[in-house]
Amino acid sequence: MAVYLDHAATTPVHPDVREAMLPFLGSEFGNPSSIHRFGRDVRSAIDEARDAVATGLNTEAKRIVFTSGGTEADNLAVIGAAVANRDKGQHVITTAVEHHAVLEACHYLEEIGFNLTYVPVDETGLVHVQTIQEAITDETTLISVMFGNNEVGTVQPIAEIGRLAREHGIILHTDAVQAFGVVPIDVSALPVDLLSVSAHKINGPKGVGALYVRQDVPFTPRLFGGSQERKRRPGTENVPGIVGFGKAVEIVQNELGDKSKTLFKLRQAMVDVWEASGIEFVINGNTHACLPHILNVSFIGVDTESMLMNLDLEGVACSSGSACTAGSLEVSHVLKAMQLPEDVTASAVRFSFGLGNTVEEVQSAAETAVKIAKRLR
Ligand SMILES: *Cc1c(COP(=O)(O)O)cnc(C)c1O
Repeated sequence: MAVYLDHAATTPVHPDVREAMLPFLGSEFGNPSSIHRFGRDVRSAIDEARDAVATGLNTEAKRIVFTSGGTEADNLAVIGAAVANRDKGQHVITTAVEHHAVLEACHYLEEIGFNLTYVPVDETGLVHVQTIQEAITDETTLISVMFGNNEVGTVQPIAEIGRLAREHGIILHTDAVQAFGVVPIDVSALPVDLLSVSAHKINGPKGVGALYVRQDVPFTPRLFGGSQERKRRPGTENVPGIVGFGKAVEIVQNELGDKSKTLFKLRQAMVDVWEASGIEFVINGNTHACLPHILNVSFIGVDTESMLMNLDLEGVACSSGSACTAGSLEVSHVLKAMQLPEDVTASAVRFSFGLGNTVEEVQSAAETAVKIAKRLR
């Protein structure tokens, strides 16, 4: 018996998604750029998937650029927008708690001569609009702030940051990879210009994602080649991936309200077990502005690695935070930025919920964690 509670790292492919992809690994093999019937059939499947992703964000299909995943979408947005606007200024603002896909893109910008400001967060991982306002200079052309954090779940005040960016004529990018398909996102109402999403976090396949690009937002491509994706991202399309992504968005779109509620119930079920058990624990993150599927907890005195190893032995799969940090003993940059006490960061564990998890298995995993914490203390 194994319980998978690591959905922030990746999710299983939905059976209907796999079903939708299969023809494109078989008879539907044409190149979507070909004008003959083999190409045309495949082209229309990509069009449908683009419509589905656009509908999921409440925008038009032509605003969607398919990429190889969330990482490429983040790189494309951050580097593409900064470089395209270089003549207007060379200052970019981001936060200390971004995913590595944004942070490393920002480090690259520094290498090629840009000035970066990494604004701090409070102890719940929240970015304060004021700190962004204070960081803005005449040179600022781009702000990149994630929608919801992948390690602690904190949801940032994107609408407010967007209004601030608009007032100053600054482009706003948001990494919505962890939030998309978990909470509603409507780019027609939200003042954002660029927004990254990924398929494998919402029961779609790995290696495919998309960047939403608002009309007239200047950005330069990062790859050069053919004219696919309206010259914004060349290369023969990952057809099975794109079709699967479209299907995954369609499925989640139809049940988003229920999904959010279910995920929150699972999260609460885990907390309830710990509260009833009398075990000492601290939740890391923001209790009000939080993604419903992420629960970062510290059982102080029980180090992260021992907890994870013991949970794994008992069949419970979770993580220390981002998958990129897992496997190394380094303290997560997110928890570091939150300036939590050392005994809290040294014992942080992330549980993340998804489709298929039941209240019973989550409760049982919570009890297992209590048992391990008591034993190791
Ligand atoms: C997973 C993740 C990414 C990277 O997406 P990939 O599709 O795995 O490249 C970027 N940002 C956040 C917040 C994520 O959770």
